[in-house]
Amino acid sequence: MHEAGLATTALEIAADHARRRGAARVHRLTLRVGDLSGVAPEALRFALDALSPGTPAAGAAFDIEVVSVECHCPACDRPFRPADVIYACPACGRISSDVRQGHELELVSLEVS
Ligand SMILES: [Zn+2]
Repeated sequence: MHEAGLATTALEIAADHARRRGAARVHRLTLRVGDLSGVAPEALRFALDALSPGTPAAGAAFDIEVVSVECHCPACDRPFRPADVIYACPACGRISSDVRQGHELELVSLEVS
């Protein structure tokens, strides 16, 4: 349960941030999760809902932005979204291993008061 550990870390960061800002509550927490990060967004949301009671983020809104995989084709010199697990450029068919996004796992923003 990778997501539970992540949720715990995110909630700790949120609580720490709120404390340093002299805020009592976290209202909104936004996370960005890439398709390649190995994190299931639903599992992460479930873990946040389950673990937030008793923390400053109890009752907060959890926004999880999912970032799809994007590769760069060196032949066409342009980005593309692969249609499946083989990252083939839709324009020229060349297979690219130059993945530019999809690995994200970030705490993007926090709203506290
Ligand atoms: Zn191409």
